[in-house]
Amino acid sequence: MQRILFVCLGNICRSPTAEAVLRGMALREGVQLVVDSAGTAAYHAGESPDPRTCSSAAQRGYDMQGQFARQVRVEDFRDFDFVFAMDRQNLLELQKLKAGQAGVNPELFLQVYGGMGINEVPDPYYGGQWGFENVLDLLEDACARFLKALKMANITANKSLLEMNTLAINANARYLAEAECMTDVHEIMAFAKRESLPLFVMGGGSNLILADEIQGVVLRYVAQQVQVLKEDDLSVVIRVDAGVMWHQLVMHTLAANWYGLENLALIPGTAGAAPVQNIGAYGVEVESFIELVEGLDLLTGELRTYSHDECKFAYRDSIFKHALRDKFLITAVQMRLSKSAAPVLSYAPLADRAKTVPGVSPVELAQWVIELRSSKLPDPAVLPNAGSFFKNPVLTQDQYQDLKTRFPDLPAYPSGEAYKVPAAWLIDRMGLKGERIGLVEVNRLQPLVLINHGGNGADVLHAAHEIQRKILQQFSVELEIEPQTLP
Ligand SMILES: Cc1cc2nc3c(=O)[nH]c(=O)nc-3n(C[C@H](O)[C@H](O)[C@H](O)COP(=O)(O)OP(=O)(O)OC[C@H]3O[C@@H](n4cnc5c(N)ncnc54)[C@H](O)[C@@H]3O)c2cc1C
Repeated sequence: MQRILFVCLGNICRSPTAEAVLRGMALREGVQLVVDSAGTAAYHAGESPDPRTCSSAAQRGYDMQGQFARQVRVEDFRDFDFVFAMDRQNLLELQKLKAGQAGVNPELFLQVYGGMGINEVPDPYYGGQWGFENVLDLLEDACARFLKALKMANITANKSLLEMNTLAINANARYLAEAECMTDVHEIMAFAKRESLPLFVMGGGSNLILADEIQGVVLRYVAQQVQVLKEDDLSVVIRVDAGVMWHQLVMHTLAANWYGLENLALIPGTAGAAPVQNIGAYGVEVESFIELVEGLDLLTGELRTYSHDECKFAYRDSIFKHALRDKFLITAVQMRLSKSAAPVLSYAPLADRAKTVPGVSPVELAQWVIELRSSKLPDPAVLPNAGSFFKNPVLTQDQYQDLKTRFPDLPAYPSGEAYKVPAAWLIDRMGLKGERIGLVEVNRLQPLVLINHGGNGADVLHAAHEIQRKILQQFSVELEIEPQTLP
């Protein structure tokens, strides 16, 4: 439930009116809110609102009984999700009180939610009844906008993202907004614009290193439908909403006898994030199936699609990870899957097992992948991690030959003209398996995975940079971090 505090000078005219108006509107519309008001000064503390305020408000159906003035406290910035000042002087006083303290930043209510070109609620205390009516007009207009923004877009203020990222970083989002449709997205965009805050896109949080305080609106697109768009004897084209969980999609397609995704079973995260880093495992990358990525330009609000070629897919990479990061919201992915099984067994342990089971079915293959992953990768629910933390470096012929001379046991896989070297081998060879760097541990079983033992994003990045430094020093190879930082 959102908690809102309105603040003026004495807390007997403007802020109690705002409190009564917002509470009344929320009650009428069935929105649960906690609303309160306070003054920057204490001289009316304990008094009821000004009788002229009460009578004007009562005529419009707002009950102010039981409201008493109080002075604003420093704890209010922590106890409320929004602290709204009525005028600039109130805002200044609030900013002074908050200076350096944790909690929400106060805002000028009409500047953010007013629609009449007026940024301050004028003090009616020394004027006539007209002034009180004017205050009500301004506040009714702004409260309606504020309530609409809260209602439509499922926006939560000061939301901990601890449970929403697999590294278990206790990050706090200024706002978390979940959209189920385009209308929601437009509302959230308008909200972020009004609040002058940047938008950050997040999915399941399995490839993210979060900052402690995210001063922006974290947007998640949570729609979850899977539709068949086209079908013939050979293949099917499906349209998958971005909010569908990836592993559930893999299982759904196998149950429908649509094949191709089996090697990508058990990869955490959402379908919407799959094109971002062109997820891949055991010889298969998702780009092989993607025909079109649908979404919305977060600057203009325009809908647009990206064809497979326009996505600029590469090894754990795409246009969405760079030029379009936080600028384009993926809302759905169109994929073509085959109706005939063609198991990919290029990964040696899968190929070895297949020797004993001729004609392995896609469902069996997915099961092997699940068993393999479960035995090799630590479960983030138990040991918080973001999967492979570094990309496998791709070396030129010369770099590879040089390194192979120094380390004859160096494994490598040809990749066009170049060679891909397992980052896990480099980390292992460096003796870093099981090493603790602060609160972060290099996993003993799979050294490419970093386990976070209660650290924040900076701790995780510090450990990663230490590993990068050591690998560069020893092998002259630059390791690239795979997860994204937010912001
Ligand atoms: C245990 C474990 C194993 C893993 N194994 C693999 C693996 O085998 N192969 C592999 O490739 N990855 C793997 N990963 C990484 C991760 O699962 C994938 O990168 C996944 O696609 C991230 O999905 P997500 O929804 O959690 O995205 P998030 O982590 O929330 O976001 C990742 C990036 O995508 C962007 N993004 C998310 N949703 C959208 C959207 N709708 N529109 C635009 N941008 C968006 C975010 O802004 C961010 O930059 C693993 C992770 C873990 C924890």
